[in-house]
Amino acid sequence: MNKLICYEHGIYAIDADYVRPNLAAIHLVVENERAAFIDSGCNDSIPNVLAALQELRIPVENVDYVILTHVHLDHAGGAGAMMRAFPNARLIVHPRGARHMVDPSRLIEGSEAVYGVEAVRRLYGEILPIEATRIVEATHELSVDLAGRELLCLDTPGHAKHHIAIVDRKSGHVFTGDIFGVSYRELDTDGRQFIILTTTPVQFDPAAMHASIDLLLSYRPEAAYLTHFGQIKNLPEKAIELHRMVDDFVAIAMREKDVGADRHVRIRDGLANLLLDDIKRFGCQLASTTILKFFANDLELNAQGLGVWLDSNQT
Ligand SMILES: [Zn+2]
Repeated sequence: MNKLICYEHGIYAIDADYVRPNLAAIHLVVENERAAFIDSGCNDSIPNVLAALQELRIPVENVDYVILTHVHLDHAGGAGAMMRAFPNARLIVHPRGARHMVDPSRLIEGSEAVYGVEAVRRLYGEILPIEATRIVEATHELSVDLAGRELLCLDTPGHAKHHIAIVDRKSGHVFTGDIFGVSYRELDTDGRQFIILTTTPVQFDPAAMHASIDLLLSYRPEAAYLTHFGQIKNLPEKAIELHRMVDDFVAIAMREKDVGADRHVRIRDGLANLLLDDIKRFGCQLASTTILKFFANDLELNAQGLGVWLDSNQT
């Protein structure tokens, strides 16, 4: 299977080999034989990353940056291993995420609380720490220089408070981590892409998510690169869908707020029904059971995230 996807403007996606094929991507920007990775996948992703560099004939010494959209482990779990493999790279990460890359213990604990101890060990292995001297904190509008190509970091909370998105000034395209939803290529229908919100625990913030989506659109990007998964286009219409979904998700959570012990299951079922309505309207012909299989993990995490939001929200 081809693990390296080539887009325009020296932009690539590498399959992170996370859980299933085409679930998580690591993006790569190449300018004048210098390289920047956006997100790191996990430790298991490293062989694909090295193979991609070899295929593109880029020595590991030419990797200038590893940029993390946020420090959830499907995006940042392999960062320590990457930094060891790339001797000249600097790590770019949100100021709220930086200390967790120096000392990953709280990150691991947080993930264990969401996924369970066993699953974290199986999915991520040993999370390697990164020397503080190699880390650059990405404050809002930090400009990163990749061989003269500007990569602009934007503070984009809503999915997580430690989330940035990156505007590539050369192409005008944006790297959106998890703030612009997830979109799996297997669901593409007539060349169109289906998109869904992600509200993974524990920092979903609907108002911030609306604002971050609008901020990204204000750059009028022609394409976005989602960690889950790869390039999408027609962003203004996708943004309308995402804005509507933020409101629908909040309505589902609020509806089930006081139902007691069943709350999580009822929120998850509500999200599943919404998903099936949306995707049928979109025109996807796959069976409901197949669709639900693709999104099982998202539905579970989204429901958990909405539960945490309800508990922390004084409404
Ligand atoms: Zn993610």
